[in-house]
Amino acid sequence: MMKYPLTITSILNRARIYFPRKEVVTRLPGSIHRYSYADLYTRVCRLSNVLSSLGVEKGDRVGVFGWNTYRYLEAYFAAPCMGAVVHTINIRLAPNDLVHIINHAKDKVLLIDEDLLPAIEAIAPRLETVKQFVVMTDDEIASQGLPNAHDYETLMAQASDSYDFPELGEDDPAGLCYTSATTGDPKGVTYSHRGLYLHTLTQCMTDSLSLSERDVILPVVPMFHANTWGVPYTSAFLGATLVLPGPRPDAAAVCNLIQQEKVTISLGVPTIWIGVLDYVARSEGSCDLSSLRSLVSGGSAVPPYMFRAFDDMGIPMTHAYGMTEATPLVTICNYKSHMESWDDDAKMNVRVKQGLPVAGLEIRLVDENGTDLPWDGVNSGELLVRGPWVAGEYLDDERSGDTFIDGWYHTGDVVTVDPEGYVQIVDRAKDMVKSGGEWISSVDLEAAIMAHPAVYEAAVIGIPHDRWQERPLAYVVPTAEHRDSLDRDTVLAHLEDKFARWWLPDDVIFIDEMPKTAVGKFDKKVLRQQYASAAPTAPTTSGGTQ
Ligand code: ADP
Repeated sequence: MMKYPLTITSILNRARIYFPRKEVVTRLPGSIHRYSYADLYTRVCRLSNVLSSLGVEKGDRVGVFGWNTYRYLEAYFAAPCMGAVVHTINIRLAPNDLVHIINHAKDKVLLIDEDLLPAIEAIAPRLETVKQFVVMTDDEIASQGLPNAHDYETLMAQASDSYDFPELGEDDPAGLCYTSATTGDPKGVTYSHRGLYLHTLTQCMTDSLSLSERDVILPVVPMFHANTWGVPYTSAFLGATLVLPGPRPDAAAVCNLIQQEKVTISLGVPTIWIGVLDYVARSEGSCDLSSLRSLVSGGSAVPPYMFRAFDDMGIPMTHAYGMTEATPLVTICNYKSHMESWDDDAKMNVRVKQGLPVAGLEIRLVDENGTDLPWDGVNSGELLVRGPWVAGEYLDDERSGDTFIDGWYHTGDVVTVDPEGYVQIVDRAKDMVKSGGEWISSVDLEAAIMAHPAVYEAAVIGIPHDRWQERPLAYVVPTAEHRDSLDRDTVLAHLEDKFARWWLPDDVIFIDEMPKTAVGKFDKKVLRQQYASAAPTAPTTSGGTQ
């Protein structure tokens, strides 16, 4: 066989050669921007020339701080194809985390969306390695608050529209992404060309995301969240139409884009779909999402009521699971053929699972001592993963040794695996509530609470308890109509026939808004802090029902 390097450049070339007229569509404030893959190729050449002129060399990191737009997409290709690395920076990180990751990544150039400039201007004096700042704007106004600032479009207009992309090794670094610090300081994961390429291939498989040239793909997931779940590369590889939701996409913007662009598949975290369901309910039939053949939800568990709500609209929702460390796709939930004839309840029991590992990955289920557990759908343990698009280490991080052990990535997720091989997340190890020596799954409690029609969002955390060690506490955002009427007893009564008594939360706290992490998950770190500052001492033995 030929030794053919698997690179992002060959993905870009495929889009240029075979699909030059297919479109990349971006929602911008007040307008829609469209251009073709041929235009994308030309602009990637220009951007590669721009980055070279700014001193970017092989292996250098180019940070991008922006919304999902065509300019961000240009960086997704230009940096890796010229031999550099695109560092996708989470725009919602706290200033100290931003300083940490930009310095840690040693970003040489930063590309920044104009409306996000204040966040970078505020930390610019603390950035140790950034030599040039490029503002992604149509206007010719470079930021006054940054040294060495340039306008993206001015530089692009001056640059040549051809670029001789170098031969690259498939193990060369192409991308860099930091975890979003849900459970600690951000950790950097470097993606190789090979890993990204093989991840692209797996997304095209029929039993995976089943993406195709015919699709119109809308990733609502931000471009800084685990490579936009791989979608930009897969879209270009297949020549699928790519629709980018631009700045601050809310439920209305997502629904309008689906309707206008006839989107066939859209991907995002459950909080996006909670908003979409609410928007559709309020739009009284005026919102037409019938072009969708699939919605993919990942990032946190999909509660069963959400599958049913989209079923009622005739839109299949598919559950996917993964993480920054795995590029990110690990499992996807499709039925095996013999399950098609099962009744609705049996099928729902499969759908709520995170699914089968995608082809190319291997998994193990182990207990605390690292001993393999049976795949019986009952025994729970930690999920270990390995495969060609799974990281082998964190970038320059001494925590690597705790996570990557003997060739396996330890996910920190507690799961069961059924005899068919379907993985189901019980909880993140750090989110499980340990009450009287027994484990309570916050995921299960949240799914059950959110199934109540008066509940909009719910999150469960463990709070310290001097007798039981920890007890569950529920935070609930009621729906708008039930803001003043929903009470604690109603929520607890709704759970009573679903769980053992000792699983029931000790209390329900009603809040107006659920804190969210930088990637839109319920932010339990903030809830724990809120709880600690409101109740500095642990509850006494009077609480708890174990
Ligand atoms: P962060 O670790 O910063 O939250 P990631 O997106 O990489 O960012 O998070 C990966 C984690 O998200 C997984 O380890 C798992 O705990 C959780 N997760 C991802 N997808 C799902 C899903 N479909 N169901 C339940 N949990 C999920």
